[in-house]
Amino acid sequence: MTTLFISDLHLDASRPEIAEQFIEFLMDEAVGADALFILGDLFESWIGDDDPNPHYANITNELSALVNNGLPVFFMHGNRDFMIGDRFSMETGIQLLPDPFVVAIYGQDVLLSHGDRYCTDDAQYQAIRKMTRDPDWQAMMLQKTLAERQSIAAKAREDSKAHGESINEKITDVNIKAIEDAIREHKVKIMLHGHTHRPAVHEHLIDGEATKRIVLGDWYEQGSVVRWDENGAELRKLERP
Ligand code: MN
Repeated sequence: MTTLFISDLHLDASRPEIAEQFIEFLMDEAVGADALFILGDLFESWIGDDDPNPHYANITNELSALVNNGLPVFFMHGNRDFMIGDRFSMETGIQLLPDPFVVAIYGQDVLLSHGDRYCTDDAQYQAIRKMTRDPDWQAMMLQKTLAERQSIAAKAREDSKAHGESINEKITDVNIKAIEDAIREHKVKIMLHGHTHRPAVHEHLIDGEATKRIVLGDWYEQGSVVRWDENGAELRKLERP
């Protein structure tokens, strides 16, 4: 049996081919898995569990059907869908995980994260992250109408794009010291995250111990998955049909 990990699908009505590939992945592969972990940025922009966005409802219904069919599905917030809340969890049966989170996979402790918290070279991003993860800020946002929230989210996406283009690539990647500190703190030998859209398997030698960090890719051009079974973890591309 296999446990599956994905992140950074950035599902959006403007990119229906991603939803199509994702639903196919659910039907072909996830349905027979031990568990599915979604490590953030499943959705391009989640403005509240009260948003009736039909594109998103279609996806959550598919996921919910798998949960009802017996597949445990876990979700960790990304920087696009951090407003997913308890109502979503209750309605879908998807279990929300804190970031970071250590889970035992076939007997091995694995540190899971979306990854953005370790991009500590980008001070401006971290300031926004801190503000938007504050429960008071989120409660204030949820008081606004859906239309107001939509326009705020659109502006935030534009600002984020402009910011990303204005700074160098290294700054938007994770900071290696922050990563190694987290691996040390959580006493794991393997870590898995997304966010940077730079799929790779990295080796880190920490206090003389070989540790591994797997970075999931995004789904813009193809899918990306980590398949984990008793033989270990494999990072794979999913070709777009
Ligand atoms: Mn992200």
